[in-house]
Amino acid sequence: MKKFKPADALQDLQYFGEFGGVNPSISDSSTYTFLSAKTMFDTFEGNAEGCYLYSRHSSPSNLYLGQALAAMEGSEAAHVTASGMAAISGVIMQLCQAGDHIVAARTIYGGTYAFLKNFLPKWGIQTTFVDITKPDKVVQAIQGNTKMLYCESMSNPLLEIADLEKLSSLAHAHQAHLVVDNTFTPLLLSPIKLGADIVIHSLTKFINGSSDTVAGVICGSQQLIDDLRNVNNGACMLLGATLDSIRAASIMKNLRTLHVRMEHHSKNAQFLAKKFEAMGLRVVYPGLESHPQHQTFQRQSTEKYGFGGMLTLDVGDLEKANALMEMMQHEKLGYLAVSLGFYKTLFSAPGTSTSSEISEAEQLELGITSGLIRFSIGLDCNIERTFEKMKACMQAVGVI
Ligand SMILES: *Cc1c(COP(=O)(O)O)cnc(C)c1O
Repeated sequence: MKKFKPADALQDLQYFGEFGGVNPSISDSSTYTFLSAKTMFDTFEGNAEGCYLYSRHSSPSNLYLGQALAAMEGSEAAHVTASGMAAISGVIMQLCQAGDHIVAARTIYGGTYAFLKNFLPKWGIQTTFVDITKPDKVVQAIQGNTKMLYCESMSNPLLEIADLEKLSSLAHAHQAHLVVDNTFTPLLLSPIKLGADIVIHSLTKFINGSSDTVAGVICGSQQLIDDLRNVNNGACMLLGATLDSIRAASIMKNLRTLHVRMEHHSKNAQFLAKKFEAMGLRVVYPGLESHPQHQTFQRQSTEKYGFGGMLTLDVGDLEKANALMEMMQHEKLGYLAVSLGFYKTLFSAPGTSTSSEISEAEQLELGITSGLIRFSIGLDCNIERTFEKMKACMQAVGVI
């Protein structure tokens, strides 16, 4: 079988704008006219190819972006949403009902964790959280009513790598769907090609890359995407978190440079991780041989865009972490901000920010220590200089 190349798939997707433009025209309408009442009826029934009804259902700009993301993930189809959380909640609400059970990775995005743990039980959906890197723990957690195995290809914030081939065979042996959040590793990992049924992304992060937009996507079978948009019972249609066309068009343009950005994020992160490790610091980066799933990542990665832009550093305690982050911001090395995938380095202490939905006791059990800093490494043009400046900050605040 020919190896799947997500960046080539994206590159080959060419649209002509309505007026011959190199970018498709932006659809600037919430509603659409029909030349006959019959076509309107057929469109409501989902039987009119190429017709648009109302922009919460679909719009040309959103469909273009969805097609591009489906090409990138190698899925039949995709549906874009107003946020990553809208994609996650939409898929789960579509596929699960009262009485169902989910097995989820215990280290996942804080919002997803809160949704599974605090919100879904109200609707009779229970979740068991497991260490996804231990297949026997996953098997133990699966029950007769388990509908879904949920994980992140690279987990937040600990950067554990899921063995997706293994997890998909476990899920499928129990008639469950494997749903993978691929937000940290677009282009680097192609979960559907490794057996996942559904891939979701927060487009807010690397894919858009300019920290100006919140958006998400669900990639999966045509049937799933049609179901999500169904006017009678589709979760995306009825929960209503629709992406605006203008934002969809702008994300589409940023998507065109994703391969260049991912390669550079990876190169810079790899450089810093090696330097930090050589200094004896407690650094976690999947590109380091010391990372427990380094081999798993290498075996699964589709193209050689490296190991991504995320790394973590444990500087001992929260006080030091905060002092270091404030100093790095002062020295213009980046921003003390949550989120990721920006051109500038972003850093935050997960324990008191993005993972604060997880209780302190649970955080410690997971390995989210108080001195942990999560970095999204930027596109710095001179990473040696960045390293020297970071080292000086570490010296100044007593980390080294
Ligand atoms: C940010 C993020 C989300 C949520 O996405 P939003 O666009 O903020 O709703 C989900 N998963 C991961 C891994 C994220 O980093």
